[in-house]
Amino acid sequence: MMRAAIYARFSTELQNEKSTEDQIALCRAYAVRNGLNVVAVYEDKARSGASLFGRDGLLTLMEAAGQKTFDTVVVEALDRLSRDMADLAGLHKRLSFLGIEIQAVHDGIADAVLIGIRGLVGQMQREDGAKKVRRGMAGVVRDGRHAGGRAYGYRPVLGRPGELEVVEGEAEVVRRIFDAYSAGRTPRDLAGELNREGIAPPRGTRWNGSTINGNAQRGVGLLFNELYVGRIVWNKVRMVKNPDTGKRVSRPNPKDQWQTKEVPHLRIIDEEVWQKAQALKVARVNACSHFKRRPAHLLSGLLRCGICGAGMSVHDRDKTGKTRIRCSAVRESGSCSNRRIIYLPEIEKAVLDGMRQQLKAPDLIEAYIRKYNQERRELAAQANSLRTALEGKRDRVEGERQRTIDLVIRSVIAEEDAKQRIAELKAQLSLIEAQLCSLDEPPSTVTLHPATLQRYAKTVDCLSKALADHATAADDRGPLIQNFRELVHSVTVHPKPARKGFEIEVKGKLAALIGGAAFPTARFTGKPTPLGGRHGAAVGDDSGCEVVAGDRYRLSPYSSDRRFLLRCLG
Ligand SMILES: [Zn+2]
Repeated sequence: MMRAAIYARFSTELQNEKSTEDQIALCRAYAVRNGLNVVAVYEDKARSGASLFGRDGLLTLMEAAGQKTFDTVVVEALDRLSRDMADLAGLHKRLSFLGIEIQAVHDGIADAVLIGIRGLVGQMQREDGAKKVRRGMAGVVRDGRHAGGRAYGYRPVLGRPGELEVVEGEAEVVRRIFDAYSAGRTPRDLAGELNREGIAPPRGTRWNGSTINGNAQRGVGLLFNELYVGRIVWNKVRMVKNPDTGKRVSRPNPKDQWQTKEVPHLRIIDEEVWQKAQALKVARVNACSHFKRRPAHLLSGLLRCGICGAGMSVHDRDKTGKTRIRCSAVRESGSCSNRRIIYLPEIEKAVLDGMRQQLKAPDLIEAYIRKYNQERRELAAQANSLRTALEGKRDRVEGERQRTIDLVIRSVIAEEDAKQRIAELKAQLSLIEAQLCSLDEPPSTVTLHPATLQRYAKTVDCLSKALADHATAADDRGPLIQNFRELVHSVTVHPKPARKGFEIEVKGKLAALIGGAAFPTARFTGKPTPLGGRHGAAVGDDSGCEVVAGDRYRLSPYSSDRRFLLRCLG
């Protein structure tokens, strides 16, 4: 009898979506009709079909496929596997190679032609769905309602979705910003002033120059928001999914695709002040545009201040032309105490040397995984013992409740006397049940695929070579920078007291080390599920981790990002 694995995916993207339970039931019925023996069920909940990232159920299935624990995969429809043409074809190719068939309840056994057609249809539907959402939002804008995020100076009207009203206190701040800007004050200077007065910023903990000034290309920032002159402008950007990371990023739309709608009741700024501010803005952008075309350096955008967490940016060059950097919060808003000015080449050298040294040890990841799994197991054990204790307590309370009822039935005690006690026990029971329900599933251990280790070794080789090249070659740093930045999430510079240098913390992307961009063999997956069991990848489940290299590993089994840390001293 052929062994079958069922795969189900529930997406939040579509309305009238079948639950995974329904999909699994359909697949089971199909299996019975076709004489298949279901040996495993894998599922992903609330996952989009647009990308394979974050779909641990599917990744676990692929891992089990590699071990040939089943002969066929049954899905309700092929787009459950993926709605991306390339991904679907890739899955089919890998499974075919392993001698595993894909069967869909509505289509039967899938061959290459069917996979091609379904992949195409799935992709078209997905793109169509995105258009529909945009059309729906266009309708909201046409109605004079506000599609999009929250804007400073306004709040949503209760009970009337999409509608906004002016918040007078915030509107006052908006007017002040526009007036001051038109009078020649700089956004940075203004941000500092607002921070000193303790006025709450639109986002985050402080005002920055960019909160006010924004980004000319993307049109964000207070000075750009046409809502302040009673115009809703929409469709300035669209969201697209990065195929390598599965993350949504925004892309600017051409101006002729922008949509506008007049909403005079939301006007905060006079036309005259607005025009003056816009004219000034254009003049200032032009005046300083020749400063902005500096070539990006190796660590551009990766540097963080160890005191406040803000970015660090180029401060100036000294007489010999060496670049110096400083915490940008000092410059933007004066809100950070880290006024140290540090030579960029020193940081670059410390980071490169440190990483080259640390990455030479190929057992780093293995050691990390061991320690990480140990912590996961401890957490799981803790969670289990808590669950066991609660279950024991529940049984005892339930027993006492039954005995009390028994006594009433046998007229040993009067019903009146027992009433209160029974009510108390019932309250206790529901409390215990609630506690039991709120217990998280214990974390599972992670396994590292052999291909992952190979990829890791290869990445380290490439990187070491690139780093070595960098030490000698002055130019042609493009491939090196790309290679390096693929691996690095951030570089935090902690200043040490009394000018005693600094400590650098390199946060690496573990996903890059283990080949996160290459589906699906090189990735963390959940623990392989025992046959016949169900693998449910909970929403938000992650194998997050941090490693501090050197002799100690700092681990955070519940951490939400996959990172490793290296410390280098400078
Ligand atoms: Zn800082």
